[in-house]
Amino acid sequence: MNLAKFPRRGYVTEPTPLEALPRFSKALGADINVYIKRDDLLPGTAGGNKTRKLDFSMADALNQGADTIITCGAVQSNHCRLTLAWSVKEGLDCHLVLEERVKDSYNPEASGNNFLFQLLGVKSVTVVPGGSPMMAEMEKLAEKLRAEGRKPYIIPGGASNKIGALGYVGCAEETLRQLFNLGLSIDHMVVPSGSAGTHAGIIAGMIGNNAGIPVTGIGVNRKKPVQEAAVLNLANETLEYIGTDARVPAEAVVAFDDYVGPGYSLPTDAMVEAVKMLASTEGILLDPVYSGKAMSGLIDLARKGYFPKGSNVLFLHTGGSPALYAYLPTFRA
Ligand SMILES: *Cc1c(COP(=O)(O)O)cnc(C)c1O
Repeated sequence: MNLAKFPRRGYVTEPTPLEALPRFSKALGADINVYIKRDDLLPGTAGGNKTRKLDFSMADALNQGADTIITCGAVQSNHCRLTLAWSVKEGLDCHLVLEERVKDSYNPEASGNNFLFQLLGVKSVTVVPGGSPMMAEMEKLAEKLRAEGRKPYIIPGGASNKIGALGYVGCAEETLRQLFNLGLSIDHMVVPSGSAGTHAGIIAGMIGNNAGIPVTGIGVNRKKPVQEAAVLNLANETLEYIGTDARVPAEAVVAFDDYVGPGYSLPTDAMVEAVKMLASTEGILLDPVYSGKAMSGLIDLARKGYFPKGSNVLFLHTGGSPALYAYLPTFRA
């Protein structure tokens, strides 16, 4: 697909590594070969998936003459950290609106991404209660900044709109090219599914390229039907934006909600097991909120025989390891 017609900033300069996980696969003991796409190693402060989306979102902001970026996320948001980091790099101000999805979870002294918000020089942090209308909250802030003579640009949560999702269509194409170069045939891909842009972009890219590689999403927040509808909508909106006739059929979108546990960002035993297992077998850090829960899904599905024996399964590592340091008691318990 022709993604070159869309302006981007060039934050993604080369393909992220695609690696075999032989020791992890052996420890899993489910007779499958697990591979990993290392988007945790993308450029931008501490890496992670939002860089691919922001590559396009920030280009749109600059083309519209913005001098200020506003975005939103949870209190340990990787998306907020990376939006702020790229704003710094572009010489733009960045304001964050943080949603306390878990009551009283915001602590200005907290470690992890919250610490990085301060270190990177965030212009303002507005904390709002869980369930607040985030777009309206950001609009309110934009109005205030406009009255001060600024030119704010709002990036939605997770940069999950058709502009940001282009980054993950690009990732699907990058992955297919990489698999060809490696002479590696993948049977299945597993991706985290949060604000939906990553999952939607990957499935749009795989189906738009007739790859024949099924994609399973592991939800970290919403109920299965709600998440699947969000992914399907965004995937097809993105394909339409690209200008291709390809569309994602509803049955191609799977986003399990069995691994969320008690709620978004709240730890599960299976997440702790997944994080420890990948760290101790392969030396790779997952995170407690997204990639750790997604990997706990892959582990459980593998143990249940969801992937046929001998399958090559590719896990998309979306990053997030700074949040580990905000969860020390969970891992020490
Ligand atoms: C945002 C994020 C995700 C989820 O991506 P979405 O596009 O929001 O679905 C997964 N992993 C990490 C580390 C993230 O920060």
